[in-house]
Amino acid sequence: MEIKSFEDFKLNRQLLNAIEEAGYEQPTPIQQQAIPLAMAGHDVLGIAQTGTGKTAAYLLPLLMKTKYAQGQHPRVLILAPTRELVMQIDKAITELGKYTDIRHLALYGGIGPKAQIEAVQQGVDILVATPGRFSDIYHRGEIVVKHLNTMVMDEADKMMDMGFMPQIRKILEVIPVKRQNMLFSATFPPKVEELSYEFLEFPMRIEVTPQASTADMVAQKLYAVPNFRTKINLLAHLLSDEAVNRLIVFTRSKENADNIYKFLARKVVADNRIRVLHANKGQNTRINAMEAFKEGNIRVLVTTDVTARGIDVNEVSHVINFDVPLIYEDYVHRIGRTGRANRSGEAITFMTIAEEYHIQKIEKIIRMEIPRETIPAEVPIAETPFDEQQGYLREIDNQRKKEDPTFKGAFHEKKNIPTRGRSGPGGGRPTKSPAARSSKPKSGPGRRRRT
Ligand code: AMP
Repeated sequence: MEIKSFEDFKLNRQLLNAIEEAGYEQPTPIQQQAIPLAMAGHDVLGIAQTGTGKTAAYLLPLLMKTKYAQGQHPRVLILAPTRELVMQIDKAITELGKYTDIRHLALYGGIGPKAQIEAVQQGVDILVATPGRFSDIYHRGEIVVKHLNTMVMDEADKMMDMGFMPQIRKILEVIPVKRQNMLFSATFPPKVEELSYEFLEFPMRIEVTPQASTADMVAQKLYAVPNFRTKINLLAHLLSDEAVNRLIVFTRSKENADNIYKFLARKVVADNRIRVLHANKGQNTRINAMEAFKEGNIRVLVTTDVTARGIDVNEVSHVINFDVPLIYEDYVHRIGRTGRANRSGEAITFMTIAEEYHIQKIEKIIRMEIPRETIPAEVPIAETPFDEQQGYLREIDNQRKKEDPTFKGAFHEKKNIPTRGRSGPGGGRPTKSPAARSSKPKSGPGRRRRT
């Protein structure tokens, strides 16, 4: 749904009045994307420059969450690189929070800390600070951090350039682990990426200038597919089209990558024009496979999500997400690999019932519905093996629990017994269910979970 008006967000009247008085008529693109995600409690990674309205994009949800003055100690910490930016953010809180009694305070260097310490002692809800001054006052024992439940880093790239990483790490060590985080940065260099891994948990990534209007260049398609075996059948069918001449198939696990590779190499892709890439393959094998694919000698490259991160191949004709990516931003990056240089590309995604949840999240990020396609009649639909079905149901239960912690779970091992079937055409070979596998604890690649 396209959000055209601030009224469409579930903001309270105090905030809506302040927005109106500030003269904001319509939410900017970053606000359209960030506000609903932040209000839903997600961690947010926003790539946006000054002037895009990014400040209000994070301030409005956190003013909404903070509601009113409460207790003595801060609940929100906003870190920014410079005194100027800290003051500017603080001013924006004054403006947007004018009809609330939320107390906020700017902490920055260049002047003695005495007045700022006294102000902290008066009681505060939101702190806006440079990392240096925050640490200084904290180490004097003047800031109680145990009530912090929301943290924002603004202009993270500048903070990294200014060498604040060690101080930020120390701050992250002392503040409560259970909190909502938002990180905004104008650019996304490796240092900020590293920070985002340490700071954010399963973030929703939003960018105000999405990569070269992906939607225009790339035809996206989505197939609802009942199980692994049918995914294989559909993949084989799609490969019968000669136009699919340079394809990357992304999978969630090494086992899936290997199984798909073996099947296609034996039955579908002629002349050995297929390779598989994953972390268990030696460095040389990986380099050779990449080179061959780049040179155009290979028709199909099967790879896991993780290995795929380093791939830079232009002019891929097709991308197939055999499994829906769990790091949602990967979807955007992936479809960005096709359709380059004015060639039209296609990005095709296979989705089981257990993956529908992730597709909904992705569609929120790309702000469009991926067009649904019907599986062509020629593709054999396999029955879902019992274990695989159980895996899907368990996964769906976990998703519902994540959305609603009070949900007790509808899944019981003995219930919901679907037809026991062979695993379909070519079946008999045991095929481990993708869903069963992915019900293992998921921590994304590189994501360090706070414990
Ligand atoms: P920022 O990118 O957050 O620094 O904001 C840039 C400028 O845009 C600030 O002066 C804001 O007051 C203003 N601004 C933010 N959101 C809106 C909006 N929805 N409509 C008009 N102006 C806005």
